[in-house]
Amino acid sequence: MSYSSIHDLHDDLKNQRCTSLELTQKSFQTIDAIDPIIHAFLSKRKDQALKKAADIDAAFKRGESLSPLAGIPIAIKDNIHIKGVKTTCASQFLKNFIAPFDATVSTRLDHAGAIIVGKVNLDEFAMGSSTENSAFGVTKNPWDITKVPGGSSGGSAASVASGQVVAAIGSDTGGSIRQPASFCGIVGIKPTYGRVSRYGLVAFASSLDQIGPFTRTVEDSAHLLNVICGHDPHDATSSPHQVPDFTAALTKDIKGLKIAVPEELIGNTIDDGVKHKIITALDVFKAHGATWDTVSMPSFEASIPTYYIIAPAEASANLARFDGVRYTTRVKSAKNLTEMYIRSRSEGFGKEVKRRIILGTFALSSGYYDAYYLKAQKARTLIQNDFNRIYSDYDVIMSPTSPTTAFSIGAHNNDPLAMYMADLATIPANMSGVPAMSIPCGLHNKLPVGLQIFAKAFDEETMLRVGDFYQSVTQFHLESPEIHS
Ligand code: GLN
Repeated sequence: MSYSSIHDLHDDLKNQRCTSLELTQKSFQTIDAIDPIIHAFLSKRKDQALKKAADIDAAFKRGESLSPLAGIPIAIKDNIHIKGVKTTCASQFLKNFIAPFDATVSTRLDHAGAIIVGKVNLDEFAMGSSTENSAFGVTKNPWDITKVPGGSSGGSAASVASGQVVAAIGSDTGGSIRQPASFCGIVGIKPTYGRVSRYGLVAFASSLDQIGPFTRTVEDSAHLLNVICGHDPHDATSSPHQVPDFTAALTKDIKGLKIAVPEELIGNTIDDGVKHKIITALDVFKAHGATWDTVSMPSFEASIPTYYIIAPAEASANLARFDGVRYTTRVKSAKNLTEMYIRSRSEGFGKEVKRRIILGTFALSSGYYDAYYLKAQKARTLIQNDFNRIYSDYDVIMSPTSPTTAFSIGAHNNDPLAMYMADLATIPANMSGVPAMSIPCGLHNKLPVGLQIFAKAFDEETMLRVGDFYQSVTQFHLESPEIHS
């Protein structure tokens, strides 16, 4: 049942073939059975979830017409607020922090009737590509528990891939939705920057962060996007762009579609097994009336160095608020104010977060600003220019989501640069703001491979149409892992 789609479950709920209470109970039973192995959840909200499910059932019984999300169990990444519930960001610093307000996304999901069963694991403050940077333990990949689920939204991806919930919400600053979706064999979408309100998302890098869905099918993601997208006066960067009905875009028609494949994302840095699956997927599109060409997007080579200036610079400014005065963590018996700041931050933050703060503070410091931050902003413009140039001739861009399949837990522990390379193909979308998604396109050595589809800014409809078409002619999204402890 937990592997059913939102589409099918909504049909069952509407026609009273099952109840939301049953679905929600089933979700908690699955969590109890499987999560001791997977460790996706950081907290659960059983009482509130069951109560809400009963309310939804009553509304269905009265014959009310409800959102397709009504009564559906979902999970939320633990860097997004739900009022009165802990938001830990998987950090010791916030281990006791209770959110004082709802994120706009949480409010919208709640109004649509979704059942939020709990909050899920991440790399501390969303910094990482494996969920190993969580202060509360690593999440395991449901396909092979010796492997990472990807990150930073590893808990969101693993909770859906292991059937504990039907869908989940994550955040993507440099790939944190798409890369774990790829590693766990599900759909993950980073919408256009500004499409989804960031109000109530704990900020990592404000010019890059974007919230998005994890599901098993593209259609289910379209249902979630219908609910979470749209202008929000609480977020100054939220876009006033009209939100279409994304499900109406799923026409199953790709005749004449023009696909560009950047040679920089399909070259030597990509595992041969991954490359093979991507080429096979491209040929599926070709067989149904699309064309694909390799193109050059030379600025992509600068993506990782550019990201690792801009993201830490913004993170160092955003994380300055965690000073030991506010947000719960303060060391006892500090001799003076400076010592209180230093010790609270030293004890509260993990290694990777400290590394980012030091990098970012350095890049922004006087005398270095022009050499690093300003230069990185210029490189960012070049990346945007490359996208614009390619989009004048092509409808979508495709690539692998990640250069490899899920790697072993601990594999990159002593090599942060190797970990940073995992985002080679995902970062360009954050740099330019365009939407991108990962969809499963097969297994290599029994581990999922993700195909990444980029579209033009605010053209999620084309991206969804293309992804949905692929799922209508392939079966990869129907495969699910057997979980062994
Ligand atoms: N892995 C990237 C990082 O460590 C991206 C993280 C994210 O998208 N939140 O910064």
